[in-house]
Amino acid sequence: MPLLEKVLIANRGEIALRVLRACKEMGIQTVAVHSKADSELKHVLLADETVCIGAASSKDSYLNVPAIISAAEITGADGIHPGYGFLAENADFAEQVEKSGFTFIGPTAETIRLMGDKVSAIDAMKKAGVPTVPGSDGPLDTDEERTLKIARRIGFPVIVKAAAGGGGRGMRVVHNEAALINSVQVTQSEAAAAFGSEVVYLEKFLQKPRHVEIQVIADGQGNAIHLGDRDCSLQRRHQKVLEEAPAPGIPQDLRDQVAEACIKACIEIGYRGAGTFEFLYEDGGFYFIEMNTRVQVEHPVTEMITGVDIVKEQLRIASGLPLSYSQQDIVFRGHSFECRINAEDPKTFLPSPGKVTTFHAPGGLGVRVDSHLYDGYTVPPFYDSLIAKIITYGEDRDIALARMAQALDELVVEGIRTNTPLHRDLVRDKAFGAGGVSIHYLESKLED
Ligand code: ADP
Repeated sequence: MPLLEKVLIANRGEIALRVLRACKEMGIQTVAVHSKADSELKHVLLADETVCIGAASSKDSYLNVPAIISAAEITGADGIHPGYGFLAENADFAEQVEKSGFTFIGPTAETIRLMGDKVSAIDAMKKAGVPTVPGSDGPLDTDEERTLKIARRIGFPVIVKAAAGGGGRGMRVVHNEAALINSVQVTQSEAAAAFGSEVVYLEKFLQKPRHVEIQVIADGQGNAIHLGDRDCSLQRRHQKVLEEAPAPGIPQDLRDQVAEACIKACIEIGYRGAGTFEFLYEDGGFYFIEMNTRVQVEHPVTEMITGVDIVKEQLRIASGLPLSYSQQDIVFRGHSFECRINAEDPKTFLPSPGKVTTFHAPGGLGVRVDSHLYDGYTVPPFYDSLIAKIITYGEDRDIALARMAQALDELVVEGIRTNTPLHRDLVRDKAFGAGGVSIHYLESKLED
């Protein structure tokens, strides 16, 4: 079966460049679509064809579905890669793309819809034997007695979550019975306003979990494999800051067991493409919270320890080819870290867009830099502040971490402020160095 011939990249920044690189390597033509503010983006300068799809504001450009589809029509692209963020997990977009005769490089619209609704996602996972957080097993209704009973069964504290929620919004922790019903109602109306659905459900609120996730790839032809786990516990406001693979200190049999369950779930839901099962991990237990049906920012750490090019696999699968690997082919070697470098003040975290007068990337054995920056590039104020990902590999965790410390010391970004000083501090942090800190660790450290 022939590969896709021309791929339109419906994204910007480092991930657009990542997709472009994979396409070039595979001999696939590239179309970069960009906003008026983004004509100087590195991947736009490198693409075979470019189309300006609208004004700077995301809603006029990177979220502008008719403009993106028209660009695919005009350029004769056959596939559309959504990257992450923007339209990557928008089932209606995936459907539009396919209806217009293009290949959506990702799962089917149906799968995105199933996993986009957290209640149906949890239900599907339970059926496949994936461990989930003790909870209401379905939406709450207007019966207050029933809600109270469910919360008592789960045990306080509980968390009220919107089925359609995302980006860390639409959640409320409840510590006692007195606050329950009001919290449910408030979350319902917030969810209705923010996500267009007032469906909420209850989960046990885990107090000191880690965020551990499992990368899978499946071809939608009955083959699915896992590429191991990642620990993304260092977060600020539910945004990941620094990630690693594998997650340290988890018993191998437990890892294998959960990964197996994820593969089984992929087969059962007919999953196609790259995906991530996100879990909270506490006291030796894994608890599924949601699935991301796209490539993730932190995918490189998995690539470093497996040697699998996840984006190339996405492109192959979308071309209708079966997986290039069976599970036995996957050998886990060494350890990898990723630091997300953002254009922001390291103390106040306020965005710091502007002209980059000097960009000097670190290098050497086991150092990878995924970044669209170059000297003279201006970071626009309209989008996500991620400007570079510094990724290191080492035969073991200590070596990978020492390399990261050196790489961060070599990194020079002048003209704008970045969070590099925070990363330099984190990689030398004792508790982080020991491995296994909880999702609250970074915020509590920042408060000190
Ligand atoms: P979103 O789709 O908004 O990212 P998630 O369900 O992935 O929502 O949850 C986001 C974050 O909220 C988690 O990474 C975790 O920090 C916190 N969280 C969610 N559910 C729970 C829970 N049951 N107990 C404790 N923390 C939780």
